Amino acid sequence: KLGPRQVKNALFTYVRPEITHSPELLAVSPLAMQDLGLKPEEAETEEFKQVFAGNKILTWDEEKKEGIYPWAQCYGGYQFGQWAGQLGDGRAISLFETINPDSGTRYEIQLKGAGKTPYSRFADGKAVLRSSIREFVVSEYLNAIRIPTTRALALTLAPRSRVIRERTEPGAIVTRFAQSWVRLGTFDLPRSRGDRKTIRTLADYTAEHIYGGWDQLPSKLPSGDPKETWAHVQTGLSKDAIEGSPGEEENRYTRLYRAVIRANARTVAQWQAYGFMNGVLNTDNTSIYGLSMDFGPFAFLDNFDPSYTPNHDDYSLRYSYRNQPTVIWWNLVRFGEALGELMGQGPDVDTAEFIEKGVTEAGAQTLIKRAEGIIERAGEEYKAVFLAEYKNLMTSRLGLRTQKPEDFDELFSEFLDFLEKYELDFHHAFRRLSHLKMEEVESEQQRKDVAGWFFKSGNAPRQEDESRGRIAKWLGKWSERVREDWNTEEVKGRDKEVEGERLMAMQRMNPKFVPRSWILDELIDRVEKKGERDILHNVMKMALNPFEESWGFDEKEEERFCGDVPKFKEMMQCSCSS
Ligand code: AMP
Ligand code: MG
Ligand code: MG
Repeated sequence: KLGPRQVKNALFTYVRPEITHSPELLAVSPLAMQDLGLKPEEAETEEFKQVFAGNKILTWDEEKKEGIYPWAQCYGGYQFGQWAGQLGDGRAISLFETINPDSGTRYEIQLKGAGKTPYSRFADGKAVLRSSIREFVVSEYLNAIRIPTTRALALTLAPRSRVIRERTEPGAIVTRFAQSWVRLGTFDLPRSRGDRKTIRTLADYTAEHIYGGWDQLPSKLPSGDPKETWAHVQTGLSKDAIEGSPGEEENRYTRLYRAVIRANARTVAQWQAYGFMNGVLNTDNTSIYGLSMDFGPFAFLDNFDPSYTPNHDDYSLRYSYRNQPTVIWWNLVRFGEALGELMGQGPDVDTAEFIEKGVTEAGAQTLIKRAEGIIERAGEEYKAVFLAEYKNLMTSRLGLRTQKPEDFDELFSEFLDFLEKYELDFHHAFRRLSHLKMEEVESEQQRKDVAGWFFKSGNAPRQEDESRGRIAKWLGKWSERVREDWNTEEVKGRDKEVEGERLMAMQRMNPKFVPRSWILDELIDRVEKKGERDILHNVMKMALNPFEESWGFDEKEEERFCGDVPKFKEMMQCSCSS
């Protein structure tokens, strides 16, 4: 019996997508078109449809046998904390790279669900429509709320493909793109095989091609004193601040490690601030570039419940909301171990020679010790970058421009604590604050009335008096901070105008629309079973412009999608079969 193919000394295989018969282009993201430097009308051509159905390879000349041939990447991964061996793009095939002429950003375009690859193991290489709709919408939504993510250009239905999961379902292809599809798991694989040469080639590729060159990476390690790291981070993460830090000269692989850590720390902080959960944060689903990626059983919070996991099979809550920052760090430590031998060397050790000859036993011990020290200090940096980003976002989401040390406990924690205790909706709370004028929360009675805004459909929690009192107290503190923060000398006499600015600023930070699981479920049902098409475009309008107040297609439906989560559809969970 043949097992899955093991690919050694290489990290990809050339492979062609399967032919899709009579593909139907269900949706295209106009923003993705723009970001790729394409004109809207280009999506209407037959060529566009055929290329992203996998039927035409744009960059390969079959007669001359030259050009760029599609490929699937090889990687490994720790899944739920266990080494899972060789994985790889089992149903994703990259087509080509393209550079946006205006921004200069390079993207790798790939098809998900376009057929088997050498990494499909025992699966079919297909994706069902259900999971493809989810990935299509959430990729573009995360980007719209400014969270780094892989993107989605197009959603194609493969009407003749029947995919067998728990039931037989229609198949689909998502055309997606990203600055890079390399994952931490890409490093795990050569590490597990002791393949130093491939690790080094991959690290060089990551620095030179993904991060834009060695000179783009942070150059000095902060001294290791957490306080110093703090000051350093709080300067706003500027390049100068990094350059000017008091650390020692660094090995270039340590600089790469730190860049990857910083990118991921920022992204996970953004997930926490916006209540997003990936649901399967294995190392093969953690991006080398800090992108949100691999959208399976993801979800947004409904109520603020930190122990919620959207993954139905996640019994230990490993991938719950609360654990995301820790688990990303766990993954980054595995990455540190993969880079360890490279990082452990002093700045002037010749890595080529080291790879050829290896090291002595004593030398290896020194390397490991050094690498351990580096990982530990990088952990401080991870925490600092995470906290700085999280605080910045929470500050802005609460309508403040400046930070005070006591904000963390008195404003952020107390806010989240009462949301949790009274089972209130995380997103609605922020959005409702973004409409609250100072004149509405002047008196104690007003604040108690306004507390009712946080309740669902006007229903107070069981502890009505207590909850109104506690929320009112918080509103008092919050409005005091807002006044202090916005009513500075320079704005005297422009109170109304300044209030308008604050409300606008808050509405730009706090989305009205959130693609919650129940909305995606309804969307899937209507597209798949009822054959509706407009609903997909309408939801995409909302997903691409989530900070708007209305979208001009159907006021009632818009409000329903932005309103309370229907009973029994809160905090839904998703299985992994997709
Ligand atoms: P995930 O849990 O989605 O990160 O998937 C883990 C691995 O399984 C990845 O290497 C996927 O490419 C692969 N995989 C998942 N579903 C399929 C499928 N239907 N066909 C082939 N490979 C798959
Ligand atoms: Mg994956
Ligand atoms: Mg997946």
